[in-house]
Amino acid sequence: MYGLYGHREVPSMSKDAGSLSAALAARDRAVLWHPCTQMKDHEAGGPLPIRRGQGVWLEDFDGRRYLDAISSWWVNLFGHANPRINTALSAQMADLEHVMLAGFSHLSAIELAERLTTIAPPGLKRCFYADSGSAAVEVALKMSFHYWRNQGKTRKTRFITLENSYHGETLGALAVGGVELYRDSYGPLLMDTIRVPSPDCYEREPGEDPAAYTAHRFELMLEALERHHEEVCAVIIEPLVQCAGAMRMYEPNYLELLRAACTRFGVHLIADEIAVGFGRTGTMFACEQARITPDFLCLSKGLTGGYLPLSAVLTSEEIYQAFYAEYREQKAFLHSHSYTGNALGCRAALATLDIFASEPVLERNRALAAVMARDCERLRDHPNVAEIRQRGMIVAIELVQDKRTRKTWPWQERRGLRVARRALEHGVLLRPLGNVVYFMPPYVITEEEIALMVEAAWLGINTAAQD
Ligand SMILES: *Cc1c(COP(=O)(O)O)cnc(C)c1O
Repeated sequence: MYGLYGHREVPSMSKDAGSLSAALAARDRAVLWHPCTQMKDHEAGGPLPIRRGQGVWLEDFDGRRYLDAISSWWVNLFGHANPRINTALSAQMADLEHVMLAGFSHLSAIELAERLTTIAPPGLKRCFYADSGSAAVEVALKMSFHYWRNQGKTRKTRFITLENSYHGETLGALAVGGVELYRDSYGPLLMDTIRVPSPDCYEREPGEDPAAYTAHRFELMLEALERHHEEVCAVIIEPLVQCAGAMRMYEPNYLELLRAACTRFGVHLIADEIAVGFGRTGTMFACEQARITPDFLCLSKGLTGGYLPLSAVLTSEEIYQAFYAEYREQKAFLHSHSYTGNALGCRAALATLDIFASEPVLERNRALAAVMARDCERLRDHPNVAEIRQRGMIVAIELVQDKRTRKTWPWQERRGLRVARRALEHGVLLRPLGNVVYFMPPYVITEEEIALMVEAAWLGINTAAQD
């Protein structure tokens, strides 16, 4: 579907004799096992060791520079080695690096929870920390299930999820994901979920209005809710963009309809904004575009500006109160990670929120998004481009073998990998999801850097389209 190694595909590097990067890569290959990688792909070289980062740039050990057009897996917001975040972290380190969060607390965890519950959609007044996006998803799933259990609704044990969704790769998160690439090998280990077709607008008929298509697709969700609501704890979705699912997009009206239906059927709504939160789609949170408040909001990735692993699950006071009871009632929520609410992570997140508070970030992003749209226009008529879609600071280019029929190349040909390799030669880090090339740059990118990024994609696509 999306190529053998999906959204985490690895371009290779040159093996120049005497190159420091090549020597380090050899040491790496002798001891390391990389995530989401067929290590045999690195027989010919790589992975690429990075010596330092600055703004949108990464530099290798031979002094070559690469524009990080995908924010290092979508985590970076304000550039590498950001001076404001660096300063905040140094200060935090001098005071306190970490303390366990059970029975203890610290200023950065408190302040961050105060700030997140202030900027989140109204009604999300409680903050639970974890240490990765997947862990946040696990927390939300368990909390939803446990809420219903505490209410005596023990029949509620299942989750509704969208096809083509991605929620992480621990077993619970993987089970609610819908991208076969990640699930297939582990199928026998995964809990059973109710999967509903996605509102993904790429699939609509030519000329069909996206919002009308989205509303039409919602009928399938409604059917699932009608049939299963008594056994369902929650619906989990990625608002507006299914990022790991090849950046497929849908319209905000789906979220509005879903919020109303979840309320009506007594089912929670879990919004996984791990990738789309913090300004990525044009608003601080994607849910704002539908003016909805989910029952659980999962945040990670951009939360710390791309510095440290940290995640948060925000929920309502009503849900919190369902766990608040005498100890002997055994209603407490049971979930903990050693690094829950790590002080350095919380401080990096506070520094990130400070940047949002003191600079016109969303306004600037609107201008940058317009530049990306303009520069990508030249790709629209390319014989191998079926669609260019955009939501804020995410632009995706859907490559096909045949523009008219939208026939795709066989995944075995790994055309996306060819794009990545050619772009890297041109000094730009791209990482196509199968045959979908996308940009998700840090918000500090300039107009000139956007031009370079698009030029690299153009070269890459032309190279990839050759036989
Ligand atoms: C990346 C991602 C996750 C998983 O986060 P990790 O920190 O990689 O575990 C979950 N949901 C979405 C939407 C993501 O993009």
